[in-house]
Amino acid sequence: PPRVFSGIQPTGSIHLGNYLGAISQWIKLQDQNEDLILSIVDLHSITLPHDPKKLSRNILELTATLLGCGLDPSKVILFQQSMVSAHTELCWCLGCISTMARLAHLPQYKEKSANLKNIPLGLFVYPVLQAADILLYKATHVPVGEDQLQHIQLCQELAKIFNNRFGQTFPMPHTLKISNEYSRIKSLRDPLKKMSKSDPDEKSRICLTDTPDTIVRNIKKAVTDFTSEVTFDPENRPGVSNLISIHSFATGKTVEQICKEAEHLDTGRYKFVAADAIVAYIKPIQESIAQYLDDKGYLLSVLAEGGEKASEIAEVTLKEVHNKLGLRVKY
Ligand code: ATP
Ligand code: MG
Repeated sequence: PPRVFSGIQPTGSIHLGNYLGAISQWIKLQDQNEDLILSIVDLHSITLPHDPKKLSRNILELTATLLGCGLDPSKVILFQQSMVSAHTELCWCLGCISTMARLAHLPQYKEKSANLKNIPLGLFVYPVLQAADILLYKATHVPVGEDQLQHIQLCQELAKIFNNRFGQTFPMPHTLKISNEYSRIKSLRDPLKKMSKSDPDEKSRICLTDTPDTIVRNIKKAVTDFTSEVTFDPENRPGVSNLISIHSFATGKTVEQICKEAEHLDTGRYKFVAADAIVAYIKPIQESIAQYLDDKGYLLSVLAEGGEKASEIAEVTLKEVHNKLGLRVKY
């Protein structure tokens, strides 16, 4: 039976790339009554130097954000990765069938380690942990943005290697394709990069928790090009096209409709139109997030219950893996 798994890191405020590329897809799957398991992957968030207090705060904030976006913990399993110790145990087992050469080629590792003098081992192993996250639940489908495709490929390879060596255990996890427009929302400061939580420049993203003023200011400063017309051309005009994509999502209008309505505007004035629409779209979500944030007890109870449900499934797989590897001796 199909089962969907996805994860999100509590490294910072959730931005529209996360929302369009991941969370809104999860809501759709939830509404279709899919078997959906979502993890706040906090163990991934310690692969780079971090502040423990901030991480704890981010975990609660992310939980409130996911609920505020419409995820319903009675319909999906929403849990915190570090509460289910089977993730790191399976990661070890999969690490033993991974090669250093294979991991060294992954683009995210290259990007995130580029500016580091001392590269943490965890950053290198990260994609193996991600494979463990998925395989632990025998997920068949993984909705992710474009940045994660190579990691899913690695996960498929590891599943294959494990099944071949130790007997059929894991179903092949497939990526769930997201419509191209939203699979890679660009940074406002550099439209060749994706929008990221961990980008040090806060002006590079639009966060769900940003004030209207901040959103308008950041969009106004968004890097576009020297052509003044508003046209959609992601190849040659990634900056303005990025804004049009987000604007289109926020209003439900087609890209053509938006360009038509902006015929008499230059990109500078168009930015204000887009910003207003985006602010209006986010407002009710923000209000809902704020309400959840006021009830920390409830957030903790959601995570505790989700952790129990996830553990139940994870323990079964881990036991099977241990048996297959000859670790748990049976009499
Ligand atoms: P970090 O910078 O800490 O890696 P991130 O912004 O890349 O943060 P993740 O938690 O790594 O966010 O990813 C969560 C989900 O959001 C993943 O499914 C990922 O593919 C998706 N995602 C992240 N950035 C974008 C983006 N710019 N456009 C579309 N989807 C995105
Ligand atoms: Mg990321």
